[in-house]
Amino acid sequence: MRARLGDDIDDFCVKCKRIMNHSVVSLVNDEPAKVRCRTCHSDHDYRHEQAPPPKVDPRKAALFSQVLEKVATPAEADPPAPAAEAAEAAEAKPKARKKAKV
Ligand SMILES: [Zn+2]
Repeated sequence: MRARLGDDIDDFCVKCKRIMNHSVVSLVNDEPAKVRCRTCHSDHDYRHEQAPPPKVDPRKAALFSQVLEKVATPAEADPPAPAAEAAEAAEAKPKARKKAKV
């Protein structure tokens, strides 16, 4: 179905916060690109009748910014875990001793 300028179209209006009658005011590839709410007369991108994503939970946003801060600040240099090397050394030592004895 091709849309044309001025066509009636249902879309989600941010100001009315609900699906409202809109007029197509801009087309891209025969698809509505911008629409104008017939109730509040605000123009906005055609949303395909989708409500905008819910606002970010402020607590989650705070957590996220904390994570960002941690990433941004250089990590306190944790000494690389020597466990693996120590284990190898522990295994190597007896062999070395055996060699030394032989
Ligand atoms: Zn509206």
